[in-house]
Amino acid sequence: MSILKIIEYGNPILREKSKEVTKISKKIKNLIMDMLDTMYHANGVGLAAPQVGENLRIFVIDVSDPSGPIDPLVFVNPKIIKKSGAISSYEGCLSFPKAYTTVRRYANVMVKALDINGRPFIKEARDGELLARAIQHEFDHLDGKLFIDHCRNRFVADNVLKKYNLAPIEVDKLIDEPELEEEIVAWEKAHPKEFEEQQKEIEELESKKE
Ligand SMILES: [Zn+2]
Repeated sequence: MSILKIIEYGNPILREKSKEVTKISKKIKNLIMDMLDTMYHANGVGLAAPQVGENLRIFVIDVSDPSGPIDPLVFVNPKIIKKSGAISSYEGCLSFPKAYTTVRRYANVMVKALDINGRPFIKEARDGELLARAIQHEFDHLDGKLFIDHCRNRFVADNVLKKYNLAPIEVDKLIDEPELEEEIVAWEKAHPKEFEEQQKEIEELESKKE
């Protein structure tokens, strides 16, 4: 097992559409084990194959408490079969060192995939929990989409990218999500206290990074 090099934003590999895995060979299993090693080494919650230079439809996630035992989830040839609700999510990506921004996500998702042994399974994540957001983030990587394409404010996102010497937002890649945005804004208006707490949490995370 080994730690792989993580490809960074700006590399065209991250914008390619990945191919389905036709057989979970020894080579694929080794790649998955290396992806897990790489994700844990980088203290990440998720990692997709294109991020280590392989345009294959595979991602790994572990949303368990970092101080407890590991709980790796492997998704091969995933399909999102249900999605609903909307949530504002403060996200980063191992391919964007340090750059975080607020993005739109579905609150609930159901995904169908194969595990490392080729056995099909269904995983459901609800109420905007970390797993729900991570699944959408990693799934996007397989279609050449990145979290910044879902940014709620393109100018804020651009400032963050600039701060970390990353290329600016690719305007043609921005994803139009008026229904998600509407639902998020309605929630924020209806829950001013929780919204304020969210903002405070983000500020705290930001100040910790400096
Ligand atoms: Zn990512």
